[in-house]
Order: sequence, then C-alpha cells, then structure tokens
Amino acid sequence: MNAANTAIVCPRCESEECVIPAEDIFESLHSMYGACRSCMPEISVSKQMPFDQLARFNPIFRDIDDTTMRCPGCKKRSLDIAIAHVLSILIREGLRAGGATLFDVGTPMIAIGYPVPFPPRLGRNMLILIMDAIDKKTAEMITDEVSEVKGVIQRKGRADQPVGILNTGGDCASAPHTYDLLSGCDVRADVVSSAFGELCIYKTQSDTHIEFSRLGSDKIAVLESLYYQRKLEGRVADVCCGAGTLGLVSVLAGAREVILNDAFLPAVKNTLINIRANASMLGLDPAEIKIHTDPSELKTIADTPVLVATASGSCDLSLYHGDLVDLATTINRCDLCLIDAFMGVPTDGFVRAWKEAATMVVTI
Ligand SMILES: [Zn+2]
Ligand SMILES: [Zn+2]
Repeated sequence: MNAANTAIVCPRCESEECVIPAEDIFESLHSMYGACRSCMPEISVSKQMPFDQLARFNPIFRDIDDTTMRCPGCKKRSLDIAIAHVLSILIREGLRAGGATLFDVGTPMIAIGYPVPFPPRLGRNMLILIMDAIDKKTAEMITDEVSEVKGVIQRKGRADQPVGILNTGGDCASAPHTYDLLSGCDVRADVVSSAFGELCIYKTQSDTHIEFSRLGSDKIAVLESLYYQRKLEGRVADVCCGAGTLGLVSVLAGAREVILNDAFLPAVKNTLINIRANASMLGLDPAEIKIHTDPSELKTIADTPVLVATASGSCDLSLYHGDLVDLATTINRCDLCLIDAFMGVPTDGFVRAWKEAATMVVTI
C-alpha cells in the first residue's frame, strides 16, 4: 500500500491522520484499545464517587496530569483515568464542584467506535467528549492538556433532540440542529457490521446524529432481510444517506448501482470521505472516484439536486446533494428506495414522491 497515494485529508482539521483507510483500521482494531506487556494493572475508579473523595482515598487523583497512570510502553491509559484528568481541569476552572463525579464530565466517544469487550485503554487523540456545561477556553485547555482528547463538543438543546437535518422543503423546513465543536477535531468513526462485511463509517460528530450501535444494527437487519428477498441486487437509492451507511452496505451486498443523497451538506461531505476510506472494502477503484461539484461551493441545505461525485468498480455509485422529493424526478427509475428519516419526521410526502420512481420504497 502506498500511503502517499491513499492519504485522505480530514474534512475538519485538514490533517492526514484523522481518516485512515478502513482496511488499515480493521487490521489494528483488535489491539487498538488493548493493554501491552508493560501496562500497569487497572485501578478501579467509582464513577459515582465525588472527585474530592476519590482524591482523599487515592493520592494519584490529587495531582493528576497527563503522565498519571500512563503506560511507558504503549503510551495508553484507562478511559477512567483520562476522564478523571478532564474532571480535575473542570474543577480547577470552576466549571464543576469538587463533589462532581466522572459521570458529570459528559459523554465520552472513542475515536473508532465498536463494542469493545473490555475497559478500553486510550492513547493520543482517541477520545471525543460531548459536554453540557463547558466553554471554549476550558475546552481548549482540555485538548491541550489531556492527550487522549481529540475534540470537545458542546451539546445544544435537549439530550434526545437528534443532530443533523430534520426536514426540507415547503412549510415544514427546519433549521439543522447541530452541536458546537469548541476545540480540536470531531471526526470519528463507527464500525458497521453486516452479513456482507464490515465498513468504517467516519463522521464529523458535532453535526451528525449519534447512532447507538443497537439502533444501527436494527437498520442493517432491514438491509439483510431485503438481501435475502433478492431486493438489493439492482439500482438502489439511499435518499437521506447521512454518512452513507445504508447505501455503502448495499454496495457490499452486491447492488449493481447505488445512488446516495442527502439534503444536508455535512452529510454529503461525510459520505464522500466514507467512499474514499472504504474504497477497497467496497471494491471501488480509488482512481475512478470523480468529483463533479466541489462540495465547498454548495449550500448547507440543498434544493435542486446536484451531482457531487461518482465512483465505479464493483458497483456504479453516485452521490447527490438534493432535496429528496426533487431527487425523485431527477433519478429516472430505481428498484429500491431506502428512506432513513429521523424518528418522528413524517415520511408520507417522501414516500409519495418516490412511489413513481421506485419499484419498492422502504422506510427505515
Ligand atoms: Zn481531523
Ligand atoms: Zn502499555
């Protein structure tokens, strides 16, 4: 593999270290969060115990810094110690009381998400934090001082309000709900497993809905069922594709042609990254990934569909940025249309529009 030719530039921080080709991730995944031979035994940290009590019982919490409990060999340490380090900074800066617990820090998300069957040990830039009470200055201190932390995101709105676009067009248009990236980079990935193989789906987490793996696999189960009914063989359209998961899994499943679309520009950019990062898993020729429209020239919310990119190899792939009702008239027939709208968003209008263009419409 020639790294110089395959390096993918991060859409957020522009480094070439954030987005690693999926085949390289899968090669190292088994040891990514594991211990090495020099690793110290884990100490048990109660997530409910106030920090000032933790410090009273164990001196390591009194002067916690980036070297505390870090392995000299693999340079990793446990998630709990990294979170305790973040909590000590929050207390120092007056954003949490001394009685705060590890639970009060926020939601930790590992950089490459999969159900790790043991307490993960983390190295540099392997953690993204989603926090409620946080400011930009302290967020920058956290990414500077705690080497595990790659980015700090501030949650906006209710905890259960989905992130990303809700609806487009007509009277029901709604502004996209996104979180704020306060420091560092928020690009992370989730491993998606299916009967057809695995993909590594990258996302700019502050503007992407957080999918818990249980929900994700429910959606994959729908695709697996369609596959066994021989419905995934022809021309498949994934019309609110998000980061591209369902459309790209359809490529793995052997679809002849896949059309990906999203009305929200960050989703289109993430899908483009995922086509590149998973090219070899998908049997796509990296030299045949063609950009038709530079995404930086597009509006955040689409109206008339614009062809952004195409790819070929095992499958013909096209990526659009368009309103999904308008896309139905742009796309001349498909065998299967997948509509993966947010929970609670009425899909009747989308289904009506696609009934004409698709042999089968499935809302997921
Ligand atoms: Zn990045
Ligand atoms: Zn180690």
